[in-house]
Amino acid sequence: MGMTTHSDWTPEQQCLALGALEERKEKAKKEKKINNESLIAGSAMYYYCQICSILTDVLPETHTDPPKNYCNDCQAMLGAGFSEEKQKFVNWKMETCPACNGRGHRGRNYYTKRLVICRRCHGARHILVEDEETICISPRA
Ligand SMILES: [Zn+2]
Ligand SMILES: [Zn+2]
Repeated sequence: MGMTTHSDWTPEQQCLALGALEERKEKAKKEKKINNESLIAGSAMYYYCQICSILTDVLPETHTDPPKNYCNDCQAMLGAGFSEEKQKFVNWKMETCPACNGRGHRGRNYYTKRLVICRRCHGARHILVEDEETICISPRA
């Protein structure tokens, strides 16, 4: 059993981060997304942040290391208790991911030799099991 963890970020920091996230999402909306499926064989692969959709990685088609799922800013938010599902900061309890037993992946794909990232924890190796919302106090209010 994990312990409930409160974010190290103050409510003001959380609000600023949420505002910056909205700005990244807006920026990402204006950028043309490249669909890897539509590229010819041998093309580089484009990966986008799962939260804000900005470009996080461009890797050769033959890459075997997993791509970055999140940009640095969103990764930091996740570390401070941001819930991807709720799109809010929460107080959380970390537990080892039961789907991958804390490995973060489910072995390598037989054909591509790429690590198959765990769908439950998205490679984070742990899951949030309590998601009580924190109160966001807007610094602009
Ligand atoms: Zn992001
Ligand atoms: Zn997992």
